Amino acid sequence: MGAGVSGLAAAWSLSRSGWCSTLHEKSRGLAGRAATRRRGEHCYDHGANFFRLDDAGIHELLTEHLPANELVEITGDVWTFDAQGNISPGDPAHNAVSKWSYRRGIKTIGRLLADDSPHAEVRRESQVTCIDKQDDGWMLVDAQGQAHGPHSILLMTPPAPQSMHLLKDCPAVTAELLAELGRINYHRQFCFVLGYDSPALEHRNYHALLNLDGQHEVSWLSFEEDKAGHVPPGQSVVVVQMSPAWSSPRYAHEREGLLPEVMEAVCRLLGQDLPEPAWWDSQRWAYARPMNALRPEILQKAEAAGLFFAGDATVGKGRVSLALRSGLEVADRIKARLACQ
Ligand SMILES: Cc1cc2nc3c(=O)[nH]c(=O)nc-3n(C[C@H](O)[C@H](O)[C@H](O)COP(=O)(O)OP(=O)(O)OC[C@H]3O[C@@H](n4cnc5c(N)ncnc54)[C@H](O)[C@@H]3O)c2cc1C
Repeated sequence: MGAGVSGLAAAWSLSRSGWCSTLHEKSRGLAGRAATRRRGEHCYDHGANFFRLDDAGIHELLTEHLPANELVEITGDVWTFDAQGNISPGDPAHNAVSKWSYRRGIKTIGRLLADDSPHAEVRRESQVTCIDKQDDGWMLVDAQGQAHGPHSILLMTPPAPQSMHLLKDCPAVTAELLAELGRINYHRQFCFVLGYDSPALEHRNYHALLNLDGQHEVSWLSFEEDKAGHVPPGQSVVVVQMSPAWSSPRYAHEREGLLPEVMEAVCRLLGQDLPEPAWWDSQRWAYARPMNALRPEILQKAEAAGLFFAGDATVGKGRVSLALRSGLEVADRIKARLACQ
């Protein structure tokens, strides 16, 4: 369940081995929090901003198994800043590792995985609202009241609190597993995107600024024009991720009312006044990144009953590459299980 990068990676691996799967995805798009929006000639990554290819298995997946012609290397380094807004060049070792997105946005990864999974059926706008286990397998009910199943294996990839909500009334699910899902906490984050018809900054030495101590209102600020194909020449799109501490108390606020505060924090950080953007956008992320991980020993017990988990909740870090890896790894465990059936 879920066509984020972990669910799609699992379906891709199963499909390569000839196993059929069905993915239920509540939204219209693919790739979940590896998210991109388009606006005219612009596209911008308003969830995950980039991924690295430093994991050999993920490098092989994205550069050898899937088409690599749309990959774009992001130019410029990630610099860092502290609570007072003091900016310094980032860690040279980190900056030596290249950062990647796709020409038409990071969510391309979802399309490429789905296109290369002939045995996987992806049902978009299919929100699962109820899960039950019967003698012959797992049954899902969608928001239209339609039942799907029985399935011998169920793979859950939504953020842990969403999985807990779906599984809480299923008698086959143990109290221990529900408590474990409930133990996983996520950062909430507000993302603002500021569009300019001319370069937002005349001179800069970095692609992005990252707050290392978590004490600044801004967590991350970056320039989408450093990704080939995202922004028409001579224009700027600035992505600003506000900190969890700033975002949480303002989570339900009207976004229009928050924009002046965001602009003020951005100008203070950059040390110069930015004009009003020509256009802007925003996104609230209720479950931006997990703070802790599901424990493997508890997940193993669920796997014995045919209930598997993948995604960033299983690794405790919000990273596209780790979510992909968790999908590939769970697929191997599912294949082993199917081979014994
Ligand atoms: C603001 C932000 C910035 C980030 N920055 C970075 C970064 O720069 N680099 C990086 O590597 N990572 C970054 N991350 C983290 C990265 O995006 C995630 O770790 C990764 O995309 C998680 O993938 P996943 O498959 O585990 O989960 P998801 O992408 O959340 O996939 C789960 C899917 O399940 C679907 N779903 C949920 N409930 C249901 C339901 N009831 N029925 C059907 N479908 C359902 C969802 O719609 C979703 O598509 C960032 C995340 C955010 C939010």
